[in-house]
Amino acid sequence: MRLLIMGPPGAGKGTQAEVLIKELQITHVSTGDMFRAAIKEGTDMGKKAKEYMDKGELVPDSVVVGMVKDRISQPDCVKGFLLDGFPRTVAQAEALDETFKEMGIKSDGVINIDVPRERLMDRLTGRRICRSCGASYHVIFNKPVVEGKCNSCGGELYQRSDDNEVAVGNRLDIYEAQTQPLIDYYAKQNLLKNINGDQDINDVLADVLASVR
Ligand SMILES: [Zn+2]
Repeated sequence: MRLLIMGPPGAGKGTQAEVLIKELQITHVSTGDMFRAAIKEGTDMGKKAKEYMDKGELVPDSVVVGMVKDRISQPDCVKGFLLDGFPRTVAQAEALDETFKEMGIKSDGVINIDVPRERLMDRLTGRRICRSCGASYHVIFNKPVVEGKCNSCGGELYQRSDDNEVAVGNRLDIYEAQTQPLIDYYAKQNLLKNINGDQDINDVLADVLASVR
């Protein structure tokens, strides 16, 4: 099973990915982790990426795709993988298609975690952080025992400036603008699996499994 997963900030993509890889017994390939590992291990692609990053430049698609190829060619990916955080553009998706072709493999689906914008706003703007210990709370979904106070250290809870309504709205706008072409691209290939992410985690998992099995 070779899957891709995407979803807006606040959709709980990370949690869903963790549950899904356990259920399907496949490897989670998160591009963020992959980048850090390739640079740390000093692979050819890792070295190339580091050169660009050291110069403060964007790492070109060819290098990122090369890293993905190295990673999904490793033995732990033979039985399948869940690619997370990549591709982000249609150009990257096309390059990934090429890579799959070279490797003689195919994608089994692209999971798109769909959550209504109002729900994402609630989830993201409700976050509160403890000023003293950094513990994370939510005004609706993970309330502290005493309002405005941290359960473990009693510290004051605050809202990060990038969690306010305007900033979150901008973040979601940018995500939507970037992602829509990618959604269209995979829909055209009949690979897109739209999953309702606004339900219990077990129901999300059941829907994902039903869509790929
Ligand atoms: Zn605290």
